[in-house]
Amino acid sequence: MSERKLIEHIDTIFTADPEGRELSDAYVLVDGNHIENVGVSPYNGPEPDRVIDGKDRVMIPGLINTHHHLYQTLFRNFKEVNNAELFTWLTELYDRWAKVDSRAIHVSTVIGAAELLLSGATTTSDHLYLFPEGQNDLFDAEVEAAREVGIRFHPTRGSMSLSKEDGGLPPKEVVQTEEEILEEYRRVIDEYHDRNEFAMTKVALAPCSPFSVTDEIMKETAGLAEEEDLALHTHLAETADETEFCLDEVGMRPVDYMKELGWLNENVWFAHVVHVNEREIEKLSDAGVGMSHCPSSNMRLGSGIAPVVKMKDTDIKVSIAVDGSASNDTSNMIKELRHALLLQRVKYGADSITPREVLRFGTIGGAMALGREDELGSIEPGKAADLVMVDLNRLEYAGGLSDPVSALLMCDTKGVDFNMVNGEVLVEDGKLRNQGLLEYIEEQNEIAAQFYS
Ligand SMILES: [Zn+2]
Repeated sequence: MSERKLIEHIDTIFTADPEGRELSDAYVLVDGNHIENVGVSPYNGPEPDRVIDGKDRVMIPGLINTHHHLYQTLFRNFKEVNNAELFTWLTELYDRWAKVDSRAIHVSTVIGAAELLLSGATTTSDHLYLFPEGQNDLFDAEVEAAREVGIRFHPTRGSMSLSKEDGGLPPKEVVQTEEEILEEYRRVIDEYHDRNEFAMTKVALAPCSPFSVTDEIMKETAGLAEEEDLALHTHLAETADETEFCLDEVGMRPVDYMKELGWLNENVWFAHVVHVNEREIEKLSDAGVGMSHCPSSNMRLGSGIAPVVKMKDTDIKVSIAVDGSASNDTSNMIKELRHALLLQRVKYGADSITPREVLRFGTIGGAMALGREDELGSIEPGKAADLVMVDLNRLEYAGGLSDPVSALLMCDTKGVDFNMVNGEVLVEDGKLRNQGLLEYIEEQNEIAAQFYS
């Protein structure tokens, strides 16, 4: 028998269901790894095994971070590139990234995933495209680390095949041959991709970007994804430099290039999508792609403002992501939602977007981008028990409770008080239940220091 947990007298539930329902003084009954029932208190069903108090708390579906490079927690606030734009930032960092090993990946993944849990994420994707020679075990290391933390994980097996010598950006130490990439894709799919309901690990395929892989790899990857029914992911239209690069190299803009490569369909989600015009937004919408909006990274690197307001009423599946920590420099998911709200208003005005719309991007939007809207992203019976609560008695909300749901983004939420993933409570009273994870901080600092000049 699976354990039944009752979370009762929740002040407000933001369900993110199709009707946008919000419930006051409500309960959620969790059975094992999924939600059994949602309703208004009092609960009158069979005796639960455990009761959790939801008084003075707002509950939201667990946030879904759709783009990260967890290993980059080793390179945050890296002083040599703190003031660089993307292409300079990349070329400065590639040589250091070439020295990352499986222990570094394990430790840095634990650190990033722990930060995500404490800031309300229950699912994260990761884009690992770095496989220096002889280091094919890096993917395995990050899956193992995510399992240790307990977060739901969508690792994407990245790739780089176009080195500087062949007209790309990365040095040859970090690129792989096409044969090796395809072989490794197949291995990690076989070993880690779980096709069962409520899967904790799902693999997607993710060549790094148009300026670091060949056409052949992009096409072959799309073909394999179709064959294996996997999602596809990559960076797209992040900077104006990328548009220039595509125009120079292939004679077309990034979105048209993706179409040419067979990369415009509903199984694809793209990170950034900043530099797109109205015609391109229409194409992306017609294809039903997902996008990961990464406002902090875009601000940090001065990349621009993604036209999310123009996308939100189209068929583009908008989600939110923290991006890698070398360009954020944190894995604070709830803060990312706040930044999304504020940055859109800089460009489109205060009435252009609401906190509730952004909360939907961060929950059901993320589930849609990852192709898991049937299982994740909203608080409804039958969905995974991925639930987050924040305490309204926090200092940052004091005097700001006229609308507890919008307080989550309007006020600067410092962290979440409760985080349940797949029915397991991982954060309680604002603290990780597994305090042993914090012991990785020391080793993380030691590893990071090896990369300092
Ligand atoms: Zn990225």
